Amino acid sequence: MRVNITLQCTACKRKNYVSEKNKKNTTERITRKKYCPWCKKHTEHREVK
Ligand SMILES: [Zn+2]
Repeated sequence: MRVNITLQCTACKRKNYVSEKNKKNTTERITRKKYCPWCKKHTEHREVK
């Protein structure tokens, strides 16, 4: 079962990416290291609703 998630920059709190995850395999909140165009660097992006 795949659900859409939003990835939010933990530094500036902006929502930069939309992704999907498998709810069956990944029950906890995920974090991804991604480039934030606002911070102009790679930051941790956290899953938000
Ligand atoms: Zn940022």
